[in-house]
Amino acid sequence: MSKVVIVTGGSRGIGAATSLLLGAKGYAVCVNYLANQERAHEVVDSIIRGGGRAFAYQADVSKEADVIRLFDAAEAHFGSVTHLVNNAGILFTQSKFVDIDFERFKQVMGSNVDSCFLCCREAIRRFRQGSAIVNVSSRASQTGSPFEYVDYAVSKGAMDTLTKGLSLEVAALGIRVNAVRPGSIYTDMHADGGEPGRVDRLAPQIPMQRGGTAEEVANSIAWLLSEEASYVTGSFIDVAGGR
Ligand code: NAP
Repeated sequence: MSKVVIVTGGSRGIGAATSLLLGAKGYAVCVNYLANQERAHEVVDSIIRGGGRAFAYQADVSKEADVIRLFDAAEAHFGSVTHLVNNAGILFTQSKFVDIDFERFKQVMGSNVDSCFLCCREAIRRFRQGSAIVNVSSRASQTGSPFEYVDYAVSKGAMDTLTKGLSLEVAALGIRVNAVRPGSIYTDMHADGGEPGRVDRLAPQIPMQRGGTAEEVANSIAWLLSEEASYVTGSFIDVAGGR
């Protein structure tokens, strides 16, 4: 089967590293982005320079019409979409729970949970035997992220539950659904959370004594998507240095 993957939020960080890796592994890659067209095109150019196939596509994956448009565009470019990485996600400035306003809570749920639901549903409507989904959750789903972003942790908990439930519904169809739970990874996301140096601050508390790289997360995502993981579904890989 010719492999066509959509990577949501593929313009930066973990999504960019995953797009580059999957492009090198022979997937035709739809690199989705929200606003950062330039970075998305850099990822695409790099895949194409390496002999791969890719295109960039703007869509807000928290919106139903955008998600349908995204899948239609990928299909028009490369044929049937066979794989999906739900990577797009946001968080906001570190805050105590009582200081999180409701608008922010809804925005985090929209970007992290609505997007996962909408993309998974669209994928399952189009997928066939041998297809696979990887959701990019977080160790936050287990820790709860107290005093930082409980809203974000809640959204990742919802992604974990969606991963489990959906995986059981579609297992007999030969479609696999798994998730990775990264720990502290060097990306731009921590600046959005108000502390660009957060990973270095946390490093001494991580058993492996360092933060992770986007490429290390991408390796786990690529394995879960691949046939090497053919008997793995409803599973979670913590990519968190032992934390
Ligand atoms: P990042 O560097 O901040 O990149 C976020 C990506 O998501 C960007 O490509 C952004 O697009 C895209 N995006 C955000 N909202 C979107 C929307 N509504 N529609 C389409 N695209 C959207 O983040 P990252 O650190 O690589 O994180 C990627 C995933 O890993 C997230 O789900 C995050 O929760 C998870 N994670 C990260 C860490 C960590 O330590 N970094 C740890 C655990 C889990 P633009 O470039 O266009 O803005």
